[in-house]
Amino acid sequence: MTAIVLDGAAVARDIYAQLKERVAALSQMDVRPGLAAVHAGDNPASKIYLRNKVKACNAAGIHSELHPLAADCQPGVLLATLEKLNRNPRVHGILVQLPLPSHLDTALVAKAVAPEKDVDGLTWHNVGALIAGHPLFEPCTPGAVITLLERAGIAIEGREAVVVGRSAIVGKPMALMLTSRGATVTVCHSKTMDLGRHTRRADILVAAAGRPRLITADMVMPGAAVIDVGINRVAGQGITGDVDFARVREVAGWITPVPGGVGPMTVAMVIANTVRAAERSAAARAA
Ligand code: NDP
Repeated sequence: MTAIVLDGAAVARDIYAQLKERVAALSQMDVRPGLAAVHAGDNPASKIYLRNKVKACNAAGIHSELHPLAADCQPGVLLATLEKLNRNPRVHGILVQLPLPSHLDTALVAKAVAPEKDVDGLTWHNVGALIAGHPLFEPCTPGAVITLLERAGIAIEGREAVVVGRSAIVGKPMALMLTSRGATVTVCHSKTMDLGRHTRRADILVAAAGRPRLITADMVMPGAAVIDVGINRVAGQGITGDVDFARVREVAGWITPVPGGVGPMTVAMVIANTVRAAERSAAARAA
């Protein structure tokens, strides 16, 4: 069997085209969705991600602004920037590029961004609401995985799903979102004994460990949907995922490439959430 390759870049383009129509409808109400990105420091990978997000804003016709902060900025400076953006009516979505420099605590951001502008879905308010089943925004990377599965017509309800990784931004919300859609979910992590014993049961396998080629062909059930979230820079090989793509594609039913799978879809989810935030704000103004 050779797997169907899920083209995240193509799905993302389709999403931008649909968003453009919603952006046009908002402009009839004199509203232009706006996304503000805050970047502390000069991490080169973060700069690339931000450049992609600005490009995506342009593709969808939404306003974007970048707020660079010094690598050694004090927590108060970050907080003051976020408070200003929380109050700015031109800004509907706020994105803080992670990772932050080590002296800044991610919990600051998780508490300081206004929940209605938290288009990354990472504030404690939205995380709690996700657990309760009523998130204002679903976190973007797990949202990208769900959208790829849905657009490919891959059933989630009743299926066995295995998530490799339990981080607060990918693995844990991914598990919650699959559970809320009716999958039976196993979460694996670095302390899991015999990873393959779990992954081989998966109809849907999500790899989010940040370990190049952790998932090999013998760890995959024939016909499974294998979604590779990992982005690993390997010397001499460029960017690779967590899945041994060349071999796993001979076993799986569906597979995402890296790059070109979950990455571009994550950006599309940020933009989609920003448009949603602007629509909510316009509806509240009109009420
Ligand atoms: P973290 O480093 O925060 O978490 C990694 C998780 O993987 C941890 O839970 C860790 O377990 C687990 N893990 C590590 N090694 C193993 C192993 N050998 N077997 C099983 N589990 C393991 O990473 P993130 O969640 O932030 O990101 C994961 C990957 O996804 C990275 O490559 C990152 O670059 C990428 N990413 C991609 C995005 C996209 O848009 N495509 C967006 C965000 C991230 P433990 O908890 O026990 O340490």
